[in-house]
Amino acid sequence: MTVQTCLSYEEMSRKAAEIIAGVVRSKPNAVLGLATGSTPVGTYRHLVRMHRDEGLDFSRVTTVNLDEYLGLPGTHEQSYRYFMEEHLFRHVNLDPARTFLPDGLAADPVAEGRRYDELIASLGGTDIQLLGIGLDGHIGFNEPCGEFVRATHPVDLDPSTIRANARFFASEDEVPRRAITMGMGAIMGARQVLLLASGAAKRDIFEASVSGPIVPQVPASILQLHPNAVMMYAAD
Ligand code: PGA
Repeated sequence: MTVQTCLSYEEMSRKAAEIIAGVVRSKPNAVLGLATGSTPVGTYRHLVRMHRDEGLDFSRVTTVNLDEYLGLPGTHEQSYRYFMEEHLFRHVNLDPARTFLPDGLAADPVAEGRRYDELIASLGGTDIQLLGIGLDGHIGFNEPCGEFVRATHPVDLDPSTIRANARFFASEDEVPRRAITMGMGAIMGARQVLLLASGAAKRDIFEASVSGPIVPQVPASILQLHPNAVMMYAAD
């Protein structure tokens, strides 16, 4: 694992986009594991710019996202499908048929998890997995719990996650209570992992993740075991 401290959110976003663009340039049919949340927005902005100004070509790229709220259709403004369309997909030349997220409306979320893991396996795994980190140390929606869960699975969101995500909804009551998330198997199976964290509020959990004990109560700490993980932190 390498830890990089960046001078600003902007610098972190540019570096992250350069790493992802490097993967796409060296492997035009790369499989990108993508993330939602405030943190990767700057990274996506740079990728869109690189597509527009430098011809970064996504035409053969496949994307698989980490997670989706259960109960929201992809057309809902707070669904992660919608977020990805807004921040990346519709601004670059990705093939819409090659952009994947778990189905938030799946009647059987456990079966949907199995399908999603099989999909990722059939793609040969991800070349790079982009991650944010929750205030509670979650990656994807792998919340602190008693064990690391391997499979893509439904989860009950932690109260701190519901509170943190309420800023995107009219009220906390509207935040879905459940989600489906890629498990640690697919995340750790990525050939490269790139975790981004910014802001003073994330400093302690970032530190705990990169140098504390590897425990499921700090889900991101498992990345210490990944052979090719880059962990970036920007204080602003
Ligand atoms: P944020 O979320 O980027 O909006 O802080 C990160 C996460 O919860 O993984």
